[in-house]
Amino acid sequence: MDDCLFCKISKGEIPSTKVYEDDDFYAFKDIAPVAPVHVLVIPKKHIANIASLTEADADVAGKMLFAIQKVAKLLGLDKDGYRVVFNTGEKAGQTVLHMHAHILGGKEMAWPGV
Ligand code: AMP
Ligand code: ZN
Repeated sequence: MDDCLFCKISKGEIPSTKVYEDDDFYAFKDIAPVAPVHVLVIPKKHIANIASLTEADADVAGKMLFAIQKVAKLLGLDKDGYRVVFNTGEKAGQTVLHMHAHILGGKEMAWPGV
């Protein structure tokens, strides 16, 4: 999508601190981290959010969990644990309408945290 911040980041048109990339996914450091480790994982395909997924996205949606698993391991979070957040829609505070998983870690986290 031409006018999408995260599409531009995944294509390298806007700079980011890359953590991981493969054919389908791109992961980079969040510009305003809320935890010692805060990385975003995005599909290269433009999908607005979980609410707008269709059956045609089943493959990418499934693979995304494995991409998250891989990135968390690369970041050294797999042993101690991490949180994965998909803000979806306005009331959840989604500000960028390109589906993304926040991987948060490196500290003790409270739950519930809403
Ligand atoms: P959300 O509020 O769930 O839509 O999350 C969007 C996230 O994108 C926020 O945590 C922002 O800090 C982050 N963000 C916005 N612009 C950039 C950017 N240029 N590079 C990295 N992270 C960004
Ligand atoms: Zn996009």
